[in-house]
Amino acid sequence: MDDNLHKLINCIFDIHPDGNLDCEECCKQFNCLVELVASGAQVSQLLPAVEAHLSCCPDCREEFQALLSIVIADNQGLLMQQGKEAE
Ligand SMILES: [Zn+2]
Repeated sequence: MDDNLHKLINCIFDIHPDGNLDCEECCKQFNCLVELVASGAQVSQLLPAVEAHLSCCPDCREEFQALLSIVIADNQGLLMQQGKEAE
């Protein structure tokens, strides 16, 4: 696991552990979460509370999916660039 991923995970586990998220708290996690999910992680494993919120909140789910597709597209762009610039 690389440092960047570690940082992201630390930022995710910063949230309070009571497990109940409102929309605002949930959205705060999205930036970290989409990066991890885009690299193959499962929301349900990382943050069950967010997973639970997403499953009952269409607004947040939509927001999350939108962010996720942006990050995935972004990563693919980066990968292609890295491939081109590989030593
Ligand atoms: Zn919500």
